[in-house]
Amino acid sequence: MLPGFMDPLVPPNVDRMIPYQPGKPLEELERELGITQAIKLASNENPLGPSPKAVEAIRAAATQLHLYPDGAAHALRSALAERHGVSLDEVVLGNGSNELIDLICRTFPSRDDHVVFGKPSFVCYWLGCTAAGVPFTEVPLKDDLAWDVDAMLEAVEPRTKVLFLANPNNPTGAHVGKAELSRLLRELPERVVAVIDEAYVEFPDAEDYVTALELRDLRERLLVLRTFSKAYGIAGSRVGYALGPAELVGYLHRMRAPFNVNSLGQIGALAALDDTAHVERYVALNTAERPRVAAGLRELGLTVAPSQANFVLVDFGRPGREVYDALLRKGVILRPMPAPIDTWLRITIGTPDQNDRLLGAVKELLDASA
Ligand SMILES: *Cc1c(COP(=O)(O)O)cnc(C)c1O
Repeated sequence: MLPGFMDPLVPPNVDRMIPYQPGKPLEELERELGITQAIKLASNENPLGPSPKAVEAIRAAATQLHLYPDGAAHALRSALAERHGVSLDEVVLGNGSNELIDLICRTFPSRDDHVVFGKPSFVCYWLGCTAAGVPFTEVPLKDDLAWDVDAMLEAVEPRTKVLFLANPNNPTGAHVGKAELSRLLRELPERVVAVIDEAYVEFPDAEDYVTALELRDLRERLLVLRTFSKAYGIAGSRVGYALGPAELVGYLHRMRAPFNVNSLGQIGALAALDDTAHVERYVALNTAERPRVAAGLRELGLTVAPSQANFVLVDFGRPGREVYDALLRKGVILRPMPAPIDTWLRITIGTPDQNDRLLGAVKELLDASA
């Protein structure tokens, strides 16, 4: 026998990886049930669709697809630097912010180091650490699903190199206010790279919400993650970015793949960035509909976690998978949650019509099982 042939094919951390479970695509459900007009409120996508300006720019750019993209993404990075008042070398793009999360896990911690993030929070922190073979601690949220900043700080070990915090959080929608976020950024040891994931930064209306960009003076090692997938409505084109000091950003540039953001993504994001009216329309819609949907669900006797994002997390008090399946049959796609919140489902806020359909379908479901 060849030496080493019986060694495991992959290292143990690769063996522990689980394929990411995305929200069920609309076409898949419609094909399975032979229906049309299903609605997807499962992936926090913009219910108004993409920015028309982005669509136009992408259409025009298709004629240049024989050329490689600008590997430095100069136009988009310059526009982002100007938008945020930072310099060009403080901006790095990712193939969605998912790629940046992965890159951060491969760039800063070694396998002897350690990463801290919340639970439940965005599953990609777990995936990124596991793929990179980096040890981590998942810090439980409080009983009311609020962030526990003290527990996050207490979980920091001498080897901790990175801490992820989504603000607002996914899947709960909870935010950390200015005072607590400042305290976290100040009290985290200097060596730790604080990563504040602001995928939903456009949606909060709480008075005490701030972007971590306003708190950059509090620590050197701070990365802020943003995405074009949610408010900007171009999730399909896969563009996200990180802002931070040139030293940190420089390492992410070294580690990223060449041409990691494709040319249509770069061009679409540049146009979407300019279409502030489209984002404002969506944010106004979400700000009006989020409390209406939450109130409607509470009237039906359900528990709704307070949310500052473009979704709400709802406790149905019974196995979420059953609720998910029953609503699928009514043409409504929601997002089931893993244990320990497997009686909860995450519901993206849609258009008023979609939200009415959602509330109607949930009422039917509860009436039928009463
Ligand atoms: C949706 C989401 C992202 C965005 O991912 P992309 O890869 O940019 O589409 C990042 N972080 C959180 C917490 C999210 O919910």
